[in-house]
Amino acid sequence: MNNHKLSDKVALVTGASSGIGSAIAIELAKEGARVVINYRSDEKGAEATLSKVKEAGSEGYIVQADVSKEEDVSKMFDAARNQFGTIDILVNNAGIQQDDAMVEMSLTEWQRVIDVNLTGYFLCSRQAIKEFLKRECDAASKAIGKIICVSSVHDIIPWAGHVNYAASKGGVLMFTKSLALEVASKKIRVNAISPGAIKTDINAEVWSDPQKAQELLKLIPYKRIGDPEDVGKVAAWLASDDSDYVTGTTIYVDGGMTLYPG
Ligand code: NAD
Repeated sequence: MNNHKLSDKVALVTGASSGIGSAIAIELAKEGARVVINYRSDEKGAEATLSKVKEAGSEGYIVQADVSKEEDVSKMFDAARNQFGTIDILVNNAGIQQDDAMVEMSLTEWQRVIDVNLTGYFLCSRQAIKEFLKRECDAASKAIGKIICVSSVHDIIPWAGHVNYAASKGGVLMFTKSLALEVASKKIRVNAISPGAIKTDINAEVWSDPQKAQELLKLIPYKRIGDPEDVGKVAAWLASDDSDYVTGTTIYVDGGMTLYPG
């Protein structure tokens, strides 16, 4: 018997060529989802994710797109639809950091982070909602579509020297709640996952340096830096019907980091 929780589902994961996005794509594939693997520039990374999706026993399809560009996003959804017929799950994951002290921060550094981390989530979600709304549903149905937004503990923990990043993630928090409220009666669920410190390229400079890693561990009650799979498994649960009564919420996958007073 097939116990996979996402059989017959199609998921699109943005920024799936590395780190958390790649792990999410693989965990969704393990549950039987076919996965559209988006990348911006790292085609090799996307191919590595595709191999693991296949190893997990599912199918994948790679699509290049810059999520901050409206035309790219539209073409990405067209390509996904042509390949798999539809999309049931969107994971907004693609994100960047461009750190600088406020007085040094250029408008370009500010804008680029907001464009990718926040506007990208808007553009992809709008396309996904249009796709979901083509389906029939009634009050007794399970969700006809799910959106998962990868945010950050910095949606509630202020971060000096990173005002663009923290502002974008604070925006994702309220974007998630407002959109969840707007589409709940249409049986579309929208949730966020806020990771703490997870070992990926985005923060390799911290966790790969033993001294900096020790400093980081002081901020984590659970005394372990997270792995991308820690986030991937929560995403697979949020994407499944097991979480059917969960919408508009943010799950902190942070080893308790948000429990410490600021
Ligand atoms: P990462 O750098 O490995 O992954 C980010 C991915 O986004 C990369 O594959 C990158 O190519 C892609 N990307 C960037 N700009 C893009 C664009 N315009 N269009 C399409 N793709 C684009 O880092 P990660 O840690 O895996 O980050 C994934 C998400 O997790 C981000 O939203 C990040 O803010 C969030 N996050 C990470 C941590 C952590 O500790 N690693 C903590 C909190 C939140």
